[in-house]
Amino acid sequence: MSERRKEIITYFRQMDRSFFMDTNKDLATFDYALPIGFEQTISQPSLVLEMTLALDLEPSQKVLELGTGSGFQTALLATFSKTVYTIERIEELHHRSKDRLAQLGLDNIHFNLGDGSAGWKEHAPFDRIMVTAAATEVPKELLEQLNHGGKMVIPVGSSASQELQLIEKDAEGKIHSTLLNHVLFVPLKGKYEM
Ligand code: SAM
Repeated sequence: MSERRKEIITYFRQMDRSFFMDTNKDLATFDYALPIGFEQTISQPSLVLEMTLALDLEPSQKVLELGTGSGFQTALLATFSKTVYTIERIEELHHRSKDRLAQLGLDNIHFNLGDGSAGWKEHAPFDRIMVTAAATEVPKELLEQLNHGGKMVIPVGSSASQELQLIEKDAEGKIHSTLLNHVLFVPLKGKYEM
């Protein structure tokens, strides 16, 4: 295992997930998704780690995240990359996660309140893209905004079953897709909603 992966795993293991939750804090150490209000969830910890490791983050990279949610995954992305651009459509979650991440002293995160299903064109291209809600297909806008040599992790499918896919854009701009896992995420709202 690379030193970088070990570093991410070590950091992840000492993260206090309850810090990112307003309710059910006593359940924070269990390895399952938990409600954070507004019919949304803080993701399952083992999946947060798996998705983050799949991105192969480097300190020089610019990351786009769709679905800030509690800010739990955002904190991990921001710690192991240069800059994170994160989008959340629910105002209350957007404000709460922004406050939490500021309390952690993470000052390399740009927040956007709104529908992120078409990405964040003004700041593209992104070296890495993390999508934490499920879409019917990989949004073409995200493929366009992914840098050459870039990677994206995204759950794709229906409300009943989804595939967690690793999408890689090679140096020539060709797209390769790998199945990582079978998962169940809340829907990505908007144009690619299931
Ligand atoms: N990793 C996050 C965490 O652990 O807190 C996951 C949050 S939850 C599974 C997915 C989030 O995506 C929700 O907060 C939801 O509001 C948000 N979301 C869904 N569709 C969206 C869209 N089109 N644009 C931005 N955010 C969206």
